[in-house]
Amino acid sequence: MNQLNDSLLRLITETATNLPADVRKVLGRAGKLEREGSRSGQALNIINRNVDMAKDREQPLCQDTGMPTFIVHTPVGVNQIQIKLAIHSAIEEATRQGKLRPNSVDSITGKNAGLNLGPGTPVVHFEQWEENEIEVLLILKGGGCENKNAQYSLPDELPPLGRADRNLEGVYKCIMYAVQQAQGQGCSAGFLGVCIGGDRTSGYEGAKQQLFRDLGDTNPMPELADLEERIVRDANTLGIGTMGFGGGVTLLGCKIGAQNRLPASFFVSVAYNCWAFRRLGVRLDSQTGEINRWMFRAENPQRMAADEGIPTTGREIVLNTPLSEADVRELKVGDVVLLNGPMYTGRDALHKYLMTNDSPVNLEGAALYHCGPVMLKDEDGRWHVKAAGPTTSIREEPYQAEVLRKFGIRAVIGKGGMGKRTLDALTEVGAVYLNAIGGAAQVYAENITAVDGVDFLEEFGIPEAMWHLRVKDFVAVVTMDSHGNSLHADVESESMIRLGELAPA
Ligand code: SF4
Repeated sequence: MNQLNDSLLRLITETATNLPADVRKVLGRAGKLEREGSRSGQALNIINRNVDMAKDREQPLCQDTGMPTFIVHTPVGVNQIQIKLAIHSAIEEATRQGKLRPNSVDSITGKNAGLNLGPGTPVVHFEQWEENEIEVLLILKGGGCENKNAQYSLPDELPPLGRADRNLEGVYKCIMYAVQQAQGQGCSAGFLGVCIGGDRTSGYEGAKQQLFRDLGDTNPMPELADLEERIVRDANTLGIGTMGFGGGVTLLGCKIGAQNRLPASFFVSVAYNCWAFRRLGVRLDSQTGEINRWMFRAENPQRMAADEGIPTTGREIVLNTPLSEADVRELKVGDVVLLNGPMYTGRDALHKYLMTNDSPVNLEGAALYHCGPVMLKDEDGRWHVKAAGPTTSIREEPYQAEVLRKFGIRAVIGKGGMGKRTLDALTEVGAVYLNAIGGAAQVYAENITAVDGVDFLEEFGIPEAMWHLRVKDFVAVVTMDSHGNSLHADVESESMIRLGELAPA
């Protein structure tokens, strides 16, 4: 199978950079459903532009290239060990080429060896089948949406929907509750794979399997087909919208399957996938490893964005970093800003570090970006940004308020919003939270004009290091201001009221 390595590298590269045909179709339709000029409408325009850029440049759609998960079907007699080794070698090469971010971290030491290999990484499931070809399916599901997966054990109480019993109405309540709880943190508008039944492990596996169904298919079980439709329709009345900005497009697809269960158990497992729904497949010749055909791939994809430039409205507020208190006190929730100047990245490891240590750079007035970029070093030792969208900010909630107070930071940039402790600190010190568009990693990479330096690269690894960036026209929405207002809190409470209205009387 001399072609196997190349075929697998091609599969990984295409999956990371070229959104599947069925996903493009529903995303394109969604753009027309949001009000022109609304925050969600502008976010969808930026997402569509990002999809085009990723394909054109063959660069990652999102900087979080997720946990590579392969499902492999082999004819009887094919050597699965050889396939597994080829997958590992293709993963390593794709990581070297910057198609995958080094995402595999030792859970005990916190070390990132940088190659996306290690215990549990990548995930590979093998099954034999009666066909002559090898089928390899791959999904790259990032951490932001993976953290929004949910599993329920019925019966359960799910306020404001009431008791979820062991029947399809109970399943409906679990799924709707999961969507409301996710808000925009999993980079809505999202897609759901759901499994009814199984045990705790097979339930989650079954839910992820559903993500490999074509978005245009119809569930062969009529009652599940009805439920899938009802979920998408009702979820889009919750008002969460793209990125949780409020709007009419919250969910783009829902696929539900069922497995037998133990009499004592009734699990409902929900796998939430962000808009950057990256999954493709190939059928390989079992003698040569050559690709015979692709699955889900957009062969000659249509342009997703109406224009070539970054979608702006002309009403954006232009700001230069470092920011003054007066700059940020002027800003209100809903304002869209374009940032210019220095910006620093910082995620979990840096926030924890800053709690008890000094910063290696002066952060007075700084913009701190919750981002773990994909970076590549050239032969001259210069770093280049390959993908740089925001990460989920709520993880930094235990640290953010203290870091804001200690260092005089004026803008925190991320996605999905933060909690009450951060909101109070923003008000106290005069700072804002800016929501960037999750997954728009190519758009933001384009906005980064220089890499001025890096700290903690050895200690924390590429995604967690503190990168010193210089940005131009970096677009973000003020979703938490310095006057105690939070768009996230408003959308969350309004969507909870609407969820309650969906409960049967
Ligand atoms: S689009 Fe959002 S949730 Fe999806 S992988 Fe990227 S950052 Fe994570």
